[in-house]
Amino acid sequence: MASSDTLQRRGLMLILSSPSGAGKTTISRMLLEHDGEIRLSVSATTRPIRPGEVDGRDYHFVTQAVFDRMVEEGEFLEWATVFGHSYGTPKAQVKAGIREGQDFLFDIDWQGTQQLYQKMETDVVRVFLLPPSIDELRRRLTGRGTDSAEVIAARMERARAEISHWDGYDYVVVNDDVQACFEKVCEILHAERMKRARQTGLIGFVRELMKD
Ligand code: 5GP
Repeated sequence: MASSDTLQRRGLMLILSSPSGAGKTTISRMLLEHDGEIRLSVSATTRPIRPGEVDGRDYHFVTQAVFDRMVEEGEFLEWATVFGHSYGTPKAQVKAGIREGQDFLFDIDWQGTQQLYQKMETDVVRVFLLPPSIDELRRRLTGRGTDSAEVIAARMERARAEISHWDGYDYVVVNDDVQACFEKVCEILHAERMKRARQTGLIGFVRELMKD
């Protein structure tokens, strides 16, 4: 017998953006670990692989030639150049997944967010994380104290540029405590899953309820 928890629904696309230093990577990891219904949309990128990263898990690491061919063949839902490298969201997996009720998490910047929203508006939920203060952001971007003042200033400038796009998001969460921030993002996710338009199984369910 169907209950409101088991009803068929359409998956959603949860976009998490923030300046670096606001905790996006930590919150993303926590979500993927604790929520069995969401998985990461793995982007393609031309940037070199970093120590600890795994091809196919963190990104699909591709050459510029392969990336350009994917663009030409319309394989991306969106793509952008970030810090001199190309990044794109492959279309096929996401489109098929959300039809089957799979949720996807996107760790993409504001440019990608705008493009995804234009294409898939009703499936997209946009969340922006803010650092608790400028001092805390500077502290987080200063790292282990081995970077020059210029490098830190450049990071702060990039962070400010990213923050300036905060008003293009549906939800804004200030990350002053990781656990509290994570819980807020979970609340957003749970509420969004219950939106009527996403609960594709409702019509049949309600029809059953109305029978006499
Ligand atoms: P990183 O190279 O540090 O992993 O990511 C650099 C930036 O690229 C981050 O702001 C990240 O959100 C963004 N990014 C990662 N994948 C994509 C993507 O598929 N599309 C867009 N537009 N941005 C992405």
